[in-house]
Amino acid sequence: DQRGEHADRGARPEGAERVLEAFRDVHGRDPEGVFSAPGRVNLIGEHTDHNEGHVLPFAIDRRTYVAAARRDDDRVTVCSDDPGTEATELAVGNLATATGWSAYPLGTLWALGVDRGWDLVVHGEVPLGAGLSSSAALESAVALAVDELTGAGLDRVALAAAGRRAENEVVGAPVGIMDQAASLLCREGSALLLDCRSMATEDVALGFETAGLAVLVIDSRVRHDLADGGYADRRAACVAAAEALGVPALRDATLPAVENLPEGAPRKRARHVVTEQARVHETVALVRAGRPTEVGAVLSASHASLRDDYEVSVPEVDAIVEAAVGAGALGARIMGGGFGGSVIALVPVERTGAVDEACSTLSPRPTVREVAPAPGARREG
Ligand code: ADP
Ligand code: MG
Repeated sequence: DQRGEHADRGARPEGAERVLEAFRDVHGRDPEGVFSAPGRVNLIGEHTDHNEGHVLPFAIDRRTYVAAARRDDDRVTVCSDDPGTEATELAVGNLATATGWSAYPLGTLWALGVDRGWDLVVHGEVPLGAGLSSSAALESAVALAVDELTGAGLDRVALAAAGRRAENEVVGAPVGIMDQAASLLCREGSALLLDCRSMATEDVALGFETAGLAVLVIDSRVRHDLADGGYADRRAACVAAAEALGVPALRDATLPAVENLPEGAPRKRARHVVTEQARVHETVALVRAGRPTEVGAVLSASHASLRDDYEVSVPEVDAIVEAAVGAGALGARIMGGGFGGSVIALVPVERTGAVDEACSTLSPRPTVREVAPAPGARREG
């Protein structure tokens, strides 16, 4: 999957031109506007979101483009050039019944309370299902298109909430708001420190490029069957631990209090969450102090915690982390819900080839992609 390898060069990205041409081909007229939104990675802060803590995602240099125009009737149409997607048309009153891939864009229109017809054409350059949140990129591009073209003037947190609601209620996936917030709020070169309780945000300049550091996302292409059940089980253990500690959420717990819990799953899960919260703040402090290379060790500590305390890693993913670090990565950790999925690694630029090579000897052979912190959703034309 090499999509997006050459995206975002020049004044108007090639992807914006492509979606503009596609809209003209399909509809025989110009769109009112072209918009794009990026995928994301979460540098650190894993499983802190549902404990009302902090996360530190950044938008990546792979985007989803949407060309959009309003219609004079109540029909809504959407199509994508992604293989295996079918063009869909619905009456605006039936948006919430959208299924399949169209549930992401049409659910977003529904969440925004759209009450008239639209034509949407999509061209995506975020790999699907690779841990880079192509779903949030699609929702965020659609949300920005509707907001700008109708002049609704919602703030970007509200647009992120609409994308999340689409995914929760129309797609049916119990996701948090991190992905949409990253796609809509991030700035080039920076991560977004997001407080998942207050929704307060801060830009955190990463300084990776200046320090000669690259970020690799290594997709294990493994997903174990227990992923959904495992995720629900971890969430329940966190709620149980917070109750036992008498705090509203684990974000309010302290490590000594957690260590005093009786031995068992809630104590281990809570220890991950509390130490991970500390690692988010440690990471922010390190990059702000101009010491980004030291973030590598924090990523590896996060992996150990996710493997041993939160128990969401699997041997295939542990093998990738070991291979990456063995080949010169400064640190690496499992990223996302767990039980498979992707690894994020911080790597000196001159070691990226060696990490790629080390991963290529593993089975199943992982997919290695370099990502860089890119701007959030924007109008392209
Ligand atoms: P991720 O968000 O990690 O890439 P998800 O399973 O959450 O994985 O979302 C992927 C789904 O989003 C795809 O299966 C598809 O339904 C939809 N999607 C994302 N981008 C596009 C696109 N460009 N065109 C059509 N559907 C898309
Ligand atoms: Mg997704």
